[in-house]
Amino acid sequence: MLTATRLLDNYVGGRFTAATATDALDVTNPATGAVLARVPLSSAADLDAAVRAAREALPAWRAVSVIERGRRLFALREGLDARREELARSVTVEMGKTLDDARAEVGRMIEMVECACAIPTTMQGRVLEDVARNVDAETVRQPVGVCAAIGPFNFPAMVPFWFLPFAIGCGNTFVLKPSEQVPLTQQIAFAVLDGLDLPPGVVNLVNGGREVVEGILDHPGIDAVSFVGSAPVARLVYERAAQAGKRVQALGGAKNHMVVMPDAVVDETVTGIIGSAFGAAGQRCMAGSVVVAVGEAHDRLLPPLCAAAEALRVGDGLKESSDVGPVISGAARDRIRAWIDRGVRDGATLAVDGRDAAGESGGSYLGPTILDDVRPEMDIACEEVFGPVLAVIRADTLDDAIAVVNGSRFGNGTSIFTESGASVRRYRHDVEAGMVGVNIGVAAPVAFFPFSGWKDSFLGDLHAHGPDAVEFYTRKKTVTSRYFSDGQGSGGYFVER
Ligand code: NAD
Repeated sequence: MLTATRLLDNYVGGRFTAATATDALDVTNPATGAVLARVPLSSAADLDAAVRAAREALPAWRAVSVIERGRRLFALREGLDARREELARSVTVEMGKTLDDARAEVGRMIEMVECACAIPTTMQGRVLEDVARNVDAETVRQPVGVCAAIGPFNFPAMVPFWFLPFAIGCGNTFVLKPSEQVPLTQQIAFAVLDGLDLPPGVVNLVNGGREVVEGILDHPGIDAVSFVGSAPVARLVYERAAQAGKRVQALGGAKNHMVVMPDAVVDETVTGIIGSAFGAAGQRCMAGSVVVAVGEAHDRLLPPLCAAAEALRVGDGLKESSDVGPVISGAARDRIRAWIDRGVRDGATLAVDGRDAAGESGGSYLGPTILDDVRPEMDIACEEVFGPVLAVIRADTLDDAIAVVNGSRFGNGTSIFTESGASVRRYRHDVEAGMVGVNIGVAAPVAFFPFSGWKDSFLGDLHAHGPDAVEFYTRKKTVTSRYFSDGQGSGGYFVER
């Protein structure tokens, strides 16, 4: 049971342990403002202890057979599944999204582990016999070393698990720094990991903020860094970690467009857009934040879209009656309100105004907001707002719509709503984004496929999870070999190909 005074532990070297840091922050429930716990702002020494534990664990963990490592992942899957509801409630309480949404997040977290369970198959290398006379070549995959991940606030359960199960499955050891705004869910996940009897140091949890991130980027004992968060920090992480010679993938912010063609099925399109724009109060990297309505789609769509947005009930995500929970903090609410004001000042029409939505007292609530008559060059159309705010832009043709979407500096996700195969074919071919939905509002991460964006939404080469995770978490080594004792190996390797 949480109490207001509980100071969260780190998890280092196989046990929960107090940070040496003296600074700590309150963790609050955004639905009520209640203080749930205190999170330590761990120091460089705390991080160093975790990295040392991870380095020490590396040889022994790597030596555990890949089949046994896979079995531990099966056990992790079972352990998380047994605490599914507790994990989901924790997500809702610390982050604010509705319980149904949190349950879906936990489902995707567990799916990541299920995908990683296939590691004895997915980590296999390649062999080619007879690359020269009596010479064979093979590529094997070996772990990279100590891998770290840094999480954002909006997916407390799932995002760390885009990395952790794949990293340890491949024989690496791991250090996680969750968002200091939502550190509670990973306390439960690490309690499950604690029960798996992993060698001490295979997984480590270091709570904290910027200082821990900077420590991760500079620490010579860390070989690979995965980051998920806002675009400016993603760039900082990418550049600094690469400069230090680390393998790095940095998933950043987004501005996701939903193109609606005149032939779209209106009811289903409205449902898809509402879920995408206002689910998790718009705090998803895949949230659709701009509708680009082509031709007469605008007038068919807007009335039912506005009616559906106005019908959403704002409140504590734990209540069955709530459709939209709070945003993460009072500061976030004020920032989002300022974005709406700015859009109106720049000439947008406030079709649905959620600025004064009521919620539980003490919480940080905003209602769904729709800004119509937005032009592509307005800041509200270009910058990530990360709240329940939807901008509507008109376009004359699909070509014009694609030009609007591709004009964005971001390229995380996008959707098209249409019944025309030709429009879909054109859109998926030409659009500059990493994830594309067809009549799907949120092209959500599927564990078995890679996930990430393009352009300013992503810095790096290998995306998260799916086959890319095995690429990211392994180093390839190519071995070319021949033997002489059977009398067949003589002759020059170079001249006798
Ligand atoms: P954030 O960038 O503020 O924080 C992310 C992490 O970086 C946190 O762990 C935080 O402690 C750390 N951090 C923050 N400022 C830092 C600094 N100056 N130096 C070093 N470290 C710093 O992001 P957030 O507000 O927690 O999350 C929301 C953002 O994450 C949105 O922009 C959203 O689009 C993005 N996001 C992207 C994806 C994706 O897949 N592309 C997924 C989820 C969230």
